[in-house]
Order: sequence, then structure tokens, then C-alpha cells
Amino acid sequence: MTNSVAFIGLGAMGYRMAAHLPKSFAQVMVWNRNFAKAEQHAAKYGTQAVTIEQATQADIIFSCLPTSAEVESIITQYPPKSGAIWVDCTSGVPESAVKMASFLQAQGAHFLDAPVSGQTIGAENGTLTVMIGGDAQAFERAYAAIEPFGGLIKHVGESGAGFAVKAVNNMLLAANLWATAEGFTTLKANGVDLNSALECINASSGKSAVTEMVLPQRILNREFPLTFALPLLAKDTGIALALAQQAKLPTPLLSLTQNLIQTANLTSEPDSDFSAAVKLYESWSQIEIK
Ligand code: NDP
Repeated sequence: MTNSVAFIGLGAMGYRMAAHLPKSFAQVMVWNRNFAKAEQHAAKYGTQAVTIEQATQADIIFSCLPTSAEVESIITQYPPKSGAIWVDCTSGVPESAVKMASFLQAQGAHFLDAPVSGQTIGAENGTLTVMIGGDAQAFERAYAAIEPFGGLIKHVGESGAGFAVKAVNNMLLAANLWATAEGFTTLKANGVDLNSALECINASSGKSAVTEMVLPQRILNREFPLTFALPLLAKDTGIALALAQQAKLPTPLLSLTQNLIQTANLTSEPDSDFSAAVKLYESWSQIEIK
């Protein structure tokens, strides 16, 4: 029986995800490092801004922080009570999920790695894809708490499997992003109208989430709105590459993609959206994708 839920980390994703929880739970506690955001959330959505000590004593605790390092730091300082389930929606490191699951198991609690996909608009609409690794029974118990912000909610395997799927997903996003930049620059250099080309490609086999959403909504209009920070994408491609290398696989394309995204990250302006990675290619080609 879940009486209380808590959400830790009210960033671009967490703020919107936590807003759905009061539809299903009478008591929703929220905590954020910059505490004013938690107070603002409470005033707007009827949640309760609490201390980190209180938040970590809920029956189900969600976290959505930049990396596994911040999650580990909070879990080890403030372990949850016996019987609790910690649902970590961070795009994290599979090894860390295994470590946290075993740490919490020793306390009689569970850790589920439950990263999400669908960007801030999916968080806002409560339609996120949630890919979950960890104990199957804990997944069953947590399902109803995840449902308010989830669309597809899928148990994908043991601890770490959810983080692995998310990292590979974002590697594919990054590869498509870079390939799209090169492809559309090629079209522009050959005198083709990019909007007409986009319409054709989105009705053809070369389409992807990048051509359907990222290119028209962020790049061609030169808006690059900051909703998913470039350093976070660079982190995800790093996690995916490390996973492939740990499995001793050849990684020609994954290595190159990670290298390009990391270079774009290191050379981009602070607070760049992930889509701004294409500006590195634009600086090489001297052609703007617009
Ligand atoms: P944001 O940078 O917007 O938010 C980060 C959150 O973590 C903030 O609440 C921040 O608190 C908190 N935080 C940062 N450092 C610490 C710390 N040391 N201790 C405690 N809290 C801390 O990130 P997003 O919401 O965009 O992303 C969160 C996770 O979700 C990442 O793993 C990301 O890869 C993933 N993700 C993001 C998507 C997106 O479209 N943005 C889509 C899918 C997944 P404070 O407000 O005090 O800074």
C-alpha cells in the first residue's frame, strides 16, 4: 500500500513529472536543492515542500537528477526506510543501478532504474516512455505511481537494464542528429530547398525523431530552445560507449559519435540545448542549416 510519494529533483523534467502525482496520491512531497523551486511547486500543484530527510522516508521516492553521482550521494546519506521503493528517473549509469539496488536491498528496500524519454513536452503531458530495470515485484508495486507521468512503462530487465536502454536510445539520437546536420548541409550546398527536402524525407525511409521534431522545431528556425542540455547528451553517449566497450565490442560509429558530441559540448556556449551540437559542424562547413 502506497500512502506517500516523494519527488527529489525539480529540474526541467522533474518539475513537470511531479506535477502529475497529486492526481493519484493525497500526499506528494517534493524536495529540490534550490528550495524555492519546491515551494513554488507546492503552491502551484498542491504538493508539499519538505526537507530531504522527510522526502527520503516516503513509501515511494522518485529522483530525477543530472547523473548517478548525485543520486548515489543522496541515497547513501539518506537511505529510505525498509519496504520503500526508490524509482530513479535520472539517465544514469547501469553499474550504479546495480550498486544502489544491492545497497538498498541490504536495508530491505528496492531501487529501480527508471529513466524516461519524451523530453519536457512528454513530461508536461504525462506521456513519457519509462524503461525500467530491477526487481520485477518492486516494478509491479511501483507501477501505479509511475503511471501519472508515463505513456509506455516497460520493465526491460535486471538492475541497470533501464539505464542501458536509455543510454543506447540517446546514442541513436546523437548519431541521427549529426548525420542529419551533414545530410542537410549537403542538400543546401547543392542548392536544394531545405523545407521541401524535409517534407520528402519525413515521408521516406531516412526519417527519424531528429528530422521529424528536432530539425524543424529547434534547428531550421534557429531557436535551439534549452530543454535538454548538451552536457547531458554528452553524458549519455559516454555511458552508451562505455557499455559497448565493457562488452568488448567494436565501436566505430559509437566512438565517433561520442567524440563529436563531446567536442561540441566542450566548445559550445554555456547553457546550450543538445540540438546546438550541429553548430560545431556549421562552423566547419561555414553553412548554416536554415
Ligand atoms: P536539469 O538540469 O533541468 O535539473 C537538474 C535537477 O537536479 C535540478 O532539480 C537540480 O537542482 C538538481 N541537482 C543538480 N545537482 C544536484 C546536487 N548536487 N544535489 C541535489 N540536486 C541537484 O536536468 P533535467 O531535468 O533536464 O534532467 C534530469 C535527468 O533527466 C538527467 O539525467 C537527464 O539526462 C534526463 N533527461 C532529461 C530530458 C530533458 O529533455 N531535459 C529528457 C529525458 C531525460 P537545482 O534546481 O537546485 O539546480
